[in-house]
Amino acid sequence: MLVVMKQDATDDDVKGVLARLKDANLEGHLSPGEERVVIGAVGVINDPDIRPAVGRMSGVEEVIAISRPYKLTGREFQPEDTVIDVGGVKIGDGTLTVMAGPCSIESEEHMVATACAVRDAGAQIIRGGAFKPRTSPYSFRGLGEEGLQHLATAREATGLPVITEVMSERDVEVVARYADVLQIGTRNMQNFTLLDEVGLTRKPVMLKRGLTATIDEWLLAAEYVMAKGNRDVILCERGIRTFETATRNTLDLSAIPVVKRLSHLPIISDPSHGTGHWYLVEPMARASMAVGADGLMVEVHPSPDHALSDGPQSLTFENFAELMESLAKVGEAVGHPLAPQPATALAMAGG
Ligand code: PEP
Ligand code: MN
Repeated sequence: MLVVMKQDATDDDVKGVLARLKDANLEGHLSPGEERVVIGAVGVINDPDIRPAVGRMSGVEEVIAISRPYKLTGREFQPEDTVIDVGGVKIGDGTLTVMAGPCSIESEEHMVATACAVRDAGAQIIRGGAFKPRTSPYSFRGLGEEGLQHLATAREATGLPVITEVMSERDVEVVARYADVLQIGTRNMQNFTLLDEVGLTRKPVMLKRGLTATIDEWLLAAEYVMAKGNRDVILCERGIRTFETATRNTLDLSAIPVVKRLSHLPIISDPSHGTGHWYLVEPMARASMAVGADGLMVEVHPSPDHALSDGPQSLTFENFAELMESLAKVGEAVGHPLAPQPATALAMAGG
């Protein structure tokens, strides 16, 4: 349920409501809106009188039952868009943030060269996988912590923040030490203990949509992270499993405006995993922008034919630079310009 406070409610009124909720074993999450405070009460309601009782308390305007299964991720709880600051890059503020880099980090030289190329083309965040979820256990599974070190070197070389996947609860501490954003991959979208664990960190989390997850299931997965106190969740549409085989997955573009309507969280699109083919990345990136995505995640490799993972869907440096030029034009047309790079990167550009 949601407790909407009056405009002139005092801090003591808010504290009183939080204490009453706690007595009823409900956790109160504050959403300090522009006009008034809303308190989201999360937990199982056992006391049938709690709603009217809270409704009579000092400073309370009204108590609303939430019909949707997710609470903190919903627009009812927070009508305004969430804007997440990642090392000076704002995600969800109406600009388009581009995260780019290799699928897997292969060596320091490979990571730094790719990071500098995507920075020079205008990307705002560097990606690179160190812990790789692979379909076969015999495929390259990433460099682990050594890869994270190369990613940190790429951050120093470019002045851009970095994102990388964490696959297991066991690795949250080490990945959070190196990364600016923690990525939860499609295969782990419903790994609830991992979601709890990243919810306890204070690093932004990018939650990819599960291969077969409905939008409700995806928002409930985001709810796990938020319920642990981490409000900085970015959603990422990366394609879902359908009967179609011409593409690796079916990039569900309609999920973007659907999520925007249901949730205040930023949503980005990953046309690389969403299509599986490098030549489909640009058209689907442009389309994602046109339907309102807050950002993109794109795989880039110096030599896609030699990539240790996801070569067929990776752009060359040249293709990526062309993509960025094309996105700038779409941004102008749809009133959704590319986000500026952080001051740290602008100072180092060309280095
Ligand atoms: C990735 O981003 O490299 C990745 C493995 O993505 P997904 O979890 O969407 O397959
Ligand atoms: Mn990949």
